[in-house]
Amino acid sequence: MAVPGKAAAFRLPPLPTVGEIIKLFKLKAQKQLSQNFLLDLRLTDKIVKQAGELRSAHVCEVGPGPGGITRSILSAGVEQLLLIEKDARFIPGLQILSEAAPGKVHIVHGDILTYKMEKAFPKHLKKNWEDEPPDIHIIGNLPFSVSTPLIIKWLENVSKKDGPFIYGRTQMTLTFQKEVAERLTANAGGKQRSRLSIMAQHLCTVENRFVIPGQAFVPKPEVDVAVVHFTPLVQPKIQQPFKLVEKVVQSVFQFRRKYCFRGIATLFPESGRLERTEQLMMTANVDPTLRPYQLSMSQFRNLCNTYRKMCDEDPSLFVYNYREELRQRKKMRNLRKSTSQPKQP
Ligand code: SAM
Repeated sequence: MAVPGKAAAFRLPPLPTVGEIIKLFKLKAQKQLSQNFLLDLRLTDKIVKQAGELRSAHVCEVGPGPGGITRSILSAGVEQLLLIEKDARFIPGLQILSEAAPGKVHIVHGDILTYKMEKAFPKHLKKNWEDEPPDIHIIGNLPFSVSTPLIIKWLENVSKKDGPFIYGRTQMTLTFQKEVAERLTANAGGKQRSRLSIMAQHLCTVENRFVIPGQAFVPKPEVDVAVVHFTPLVQPKIQQPFKLVEKVVQSVFQFRRKYCFRGIATLFPESGRLERTEQLMMTANVDPTLRPYQLSMSQFRNLCNTYRKMCDEDPSLFVYNYREELRQRKKMRNLRKSTSQPKQP
């Protein structure tokens, strides 16, 4: 007899193994798509456990591939599982899983970067932002080339409370290249502190849960992988629009090894740059000789708040783009050079 609370919440009927599914449907991993599969179900169980209690949850798995993580999610006893897979070759194998868990699985052949998550779950699951997170989870082991742009997109969604966060503070359990996971979770002063650290941590509690060595994947990637868990914060640590925070943070980290004022200065057009940089740093109470990675979250908050005030006073400031100015200057220099050169006889 099953022991209550200890047994798997849902038992899948006997199925071909993930390895057999790969062979059956000739699912050779495509290197150009960075496909690396997890075949060890103890490991996929461990990843899925990081999401928390999933009994009766609604889950979206991104990039299920041959379905290792998918099996662990179903075994956790979820109510509904939405699978979004870009590569059509995996759909028949996923259909076998869907038939093994009747009425639970919905398969979408699509791209997670463009998939609209606003209508993916039933309305009654919606929670107020201030309440506990809804019983909705996003789980995925995606290629590294997709996971970084995707987390930036989802962080912007957190900030606007749209996309998957229209339902409240939806939690995410995602894999990243180990170094990217370290950047996402790095504290002030840490070697890996970067743009990603501030963008993620000002909006979410970000936890680096555990590392999966590269050799656990088939085929083996060059790098190790880490499982990261995100819970959106009730109150963001910086209460400014995402694009403004992104601009300030990007500018600060522009010259990583230099004093932070060097990067901050790039927020301002050349005329008046020095004065405005001084004004920003003094008002925000930030020591200009700190290195970008030494700045705390509250110093980033002060910089964003002060920059916001400066933009409100001079609306042309926010659209100013340092790199664009450099490009224009280079173009002018080249033009001048080409027109001043004597014509060849
Ligand atoms: N989850 C499986 C596992 O752990 O064994 C497969 C992982 S493999 C690293 C990444 C999977 O994501 C592949 O199945 C790939 O086809 C899929 N994928 C890649 N880009 C995607 C995208 N933009 N949208 C949805 N799925 C994508």
